[in-house]
Amino acid sequence: MPTALFLSPHLDDVAFSCGGLLAQLGDAGWRTVMATAFTRSVPNPAGFALACQTDKGLAPDVDYMALRRAEDRAAATILGTEPRWLDLPEAPHRGYHSALALFGPVLDGDDIWRPLTNLLADLLAELRPDLLFGPQGLGNHVDHRQVITAVLALPDPPCLAFYRDAPYAVRNQSALPDVRVAGLPPCAAAIRSGLDRKVAASCAYASQIGYQFGGPVPLGQALRAFAKDEGGGAPAERFLGSFPNGLPDSVAPAGRAGHQAAII
Ligand SMILES: [Zn+2]
Repeated sequence: MPTALFLSPHLDDVAFSCGGLLAQLGDAGWRTVMATAFTRSVPNPAGFALACQTDKGLAPDVDYMALRRAEDRAAATILGTEPRWLDLPEAPHRGYHSALALFGPVLDGDDIWRPLTNLLADLLAELRPDLLFGPQGLGNHVDHRQVITAVLALPDPPCLAFYRDAPYAVRNQSALPDVRVAGLPPCAAAIRSGLDRKVAASCAYASQIGYQFGGPVPLGQALRAFAKDEGGGAPAERFLGSFPNGLPDSVAPAGRAGHQAAII
């Protein structure tokens, strides 16, 4: 059985960004795994880390990451995939103490990509995926950049494809990818049956969608409109990298000449 491993920096990125292709690969008989890097519960958060949950209406005594892992499990069920949690701490627990800092330089001493690379190498050894998905770093969040660093440090990676990080790409469709992946060839997947499940799975991240999209209704509108724009009319998800041989029945999504493409 062919296998695709989708890497998510946070508990929501893969569903928002490429949940359609993930769902359709499962329909086509692929094993899919959705692994999230930064999922650790940190007791007694304070300062900016605490504000990241209270500004979403969650009381200080709520285990914020446990709640988000439960959301991820629900989303994974909708997408028909296996969730994995790599139990590394999010940036606010690694010295990034403001929203501005999350999108600024990587701090001296923040080498979280090193343990992440080791965890990813273990996953590759276990799953032997044919295709590995990571983020492009649109929006420049430090956690997304650290995932890219870890992916590019893997000694023997499979085919790599980097997805366009939503909601950053939705807010700014011309946002630039991380320079380390920007030169990779574009490819795209037409999203048909997967779009409804992508939207439904994204809505499972209830703690995030008010903050990120304004609620479930505008989320659905935004992700559906974005998918149509990505395909030039027909819903699609776009990537940088390459798909392996063996994806079924490849054709180009409308309006995106020059993309290697697949309909699953
Ligand atoms: Zn993220």
